[in-house]
Amino acid sequence: MREVRLRFAPSPTGYLHIGGLRTALYNYLFAKHNNGKFILRIEDTDRTRYVEGAIENLIESLQWAGIEYDEGVFLEDGKLVQRGEYGPYIQSERLEIYRKYVDELIEKGYAYYCFCSKERLDKVREEQKIKGLIPKYDGLCRSLSLEEAKEKIANGEEYVVRLKLPPNTDIKFDDLVRGTITINTNDIDDQVLLKSDGYPTYHMAVVVDDHLMGITHIVRGEEWLSSTPKHVYLYEVFGWEKPVYVHLPTVLNKDRKKLSKRHGDVAVEDFRDKGYLPEGLINYLALVGWSPEDNEELLTMEELIEKFSFERVSKTGGIFDKDKLDWVNSHYIKNYDLDKLTDLAIPYLKEANLIDDKFAEERYDWLKVLVETVREGLSNLSEIVDKVGIFFDNEIKPENDEALSMLKMDHIPTLLSAFREELEAIDEVDEEFAKTIMKKIQKATGIKGKNLFMPVRIALTGNIHGPELTSIIYLLGKQNILNRIEYVEKQYL
Ligand code: GLU
Repeated sequence: MREVRLRFAPSPTGYLHIGGLRTALYNYLFAKHNNGKFILRIEDTDRTRYVEGAIENLIESLQWAGIEYDEGVFLEDGKLVQRGEYGPYIQSERLEIYRKYVDELIEKGYAYYCFCSKERLDKVREEQKIKGLIPKYDGLCRSLSLEEAKEKIANGEEYVVRLKLPPNTDIKFDDLVRGTITINTNDIDDQVLLKSDGYPTYHMAVVVDDHLMGITHIVRGEEWLSSTPKHVYLYEVFGWEKPVYVHLPTVLNKDRKKLSKRHGDVAVEDFRDKGYLPEGLINYLALVGWSPEDNEELLTMEELIEKFSFERVSKTGGIFDKDKLDWVNSHYIKNYDLDKLTDLAIPYLKEANLIDDKFAEERYDWLKVLVETVREGLSNLSEIVDKVGIFFDNEIKPENDEALSMLKMDHIPTLLSAFREELEAIDEVDEEFAKTIMKKIQKATGIKGKNLFMPVRIALTGNIHGPELTSIIYLLGKQNILNRIEYVEKQYL
């Protein structure tokens, strides 16, 4: 049996789209499930769409997401390097290879030189449109003999090379998600294979590379489905073994429209910057268009690898549901290694000017307790800024009238004085103090239950609900609490 080999073959046109990450993920999961190889190839033959830095960005996004590949293009110390026996893995470095196969097609009569100008092609298309026909090349240059064509080339005429499809022939292939697909060549254009700039088109390059790189399964977005017959035809005329095709449903938003930049976040880096954890995003994305047999929804990468199969990929669009992503991600935030989570949270606190470098270093342990205290209920780490606000501002503002009226109850002065007394008797709040202080106040004042806990919470945070009071007292420490009591007494009592 052939070794299972899959590839992710993005074009470096900007950022990695969340749908692209899902494609990479499904390729990766299937390759790993079958002990196969996963390859990253860069498809950069469309020079008009090339964006500087896009390859680096793609690699960083995959790395961040934890999708590892065995061969292809890597980023090492900020430099692109290639590893693997089938390189180069950047298509613009493979032009001679494509040229050789294009020549072979021309030689065997499966492709032809075309000299039609853009003006002529535009005119043909216009006329076809008026007649209500599907616009495609009218085949004018098909009848040129090879000698005539070579003469024109010798005279310096510009040309492209086109695929010479046989008329009225059914092309058939199987897709693991879509089933058997049949398309008649009458409905397909004589695809340009080699452009006038000497670069192959995607269609030529993808077939040559997938063959030469031993790719066994082609897993990509369904937008490529209509191109596949041309690719299948090329495999046939070259006499190459065809890969297995899997076309994935497009990732849609809740309105069943394509996820696009106009509708919010679509780049992997947007989700990273918002503070989604790679484990959460990957877990969620796996479920956009696929589900395991047991319908389990929280899965680690290892579990995904174990359970993944194409049989359970849905035919219809996968809906990207942000609420569900939030739910999955909050699960990971709740259970994440605390040191790692703290390290990831610190940049958000710095960005919001709540802490600086010095603070982060000197009070790391305090920050850990802070993160531990508020992590429950966070959908992403950028939300931590709002959650921790209460720990950084001693000017307490009761969140609403209800909170304010609780501070105005008759027993509050007694309560706060008792709290102050306990604090003044110690050097600094420790865990033990934080745990026992409320009991002590209860004993000293006889105030208990709701009348005890609610007002203290409101005096310390302004809020009726929030984290455990013990954690709040521990995190605020002696001086902050004294300041807050004083402030509340002055402002509200
Ligand atoms: N370069 C194509 C893209 O950007 C790859 C399509 C394929 O996987 O064949 O999506």
